[in-house]
Amino acid sequence: MNAPRKNHHTDSDISADQADRPTREEAEAAVRVLLRWAGDDPRREGLLDTPGRVVRAHEEFFVGYTQDPHEILARTFSEVHGYDEMIVLKDIRFESYCEHHMVPIIGRAHVAYLPNERVVGISKLARLVDAFAKRLQIQEKMTAQIADTLNEVLQPLGVGVILEAAHQCMSTRGVHKAGVSMVTSRMLGSFRDDPSTRREFLSIVGNQTAFSVSNT
Ligand SMILES: [Zn+2]
Repeated sequence: MNAPRKNHHTDSDISADQADRPTREEAEAAVRVLLRWAGDDPRREGLLDTPGRVVRAHEEFFVGYTQDPHEILARTFSEVHGYDEMIVLKDIRFESYCEHHMVPIIGRAHVAYLPNERVVGISKLARLVDAFAKRLQIQEKMTAQIADTLNEVLQPLGVGVILEAAHQCMSTRGVHKAGVSMVTSRMLGSFRDDPSTRREFLSIVGNQTAFSVSNT
């Protein structure tokens, strides 16, 4: 892909230096090396198109590197007729990729904020989650990136983000524990300081037990 990088070079949207990006042919050659490493023969018929498919799949898996999370939130609305209650988008399914093993992390995000006059379209919250999910990630970092970006751009009274996800690097290798989900959260502003705001958020997402001990 050749999507241009935009002008925000913050920690939250690091991308590889595109100047030394390998070519598609180099990427496909690397897949053939991994096929041989697995013990197979990349020249056999069933695998001939695999490198091309893998590289195209990676373009989908990692499309977040071409997206600017700040830009996604740039268009805000102030005509909200005095609405000043919490806005929550819950159960946003995401697919991300563990940066240690490059295998899927699949889960749900719950994103909330208490607006300070400005709001964004709710689809933007889902796109924000995807912009960070479609990268190599660790769940803790992704949670913080979503919350911090929302906080920086909208400057709301508070932000709450909860991620629950299953890590295939844990279920399909290593300790082989399936059915385990990891829960991370980041609470900023009123979500951090005001117990009633936090309680309201947790009750909306229906996850109080998981969060009674977690407060960052
Ligand atoms: Zn992993």
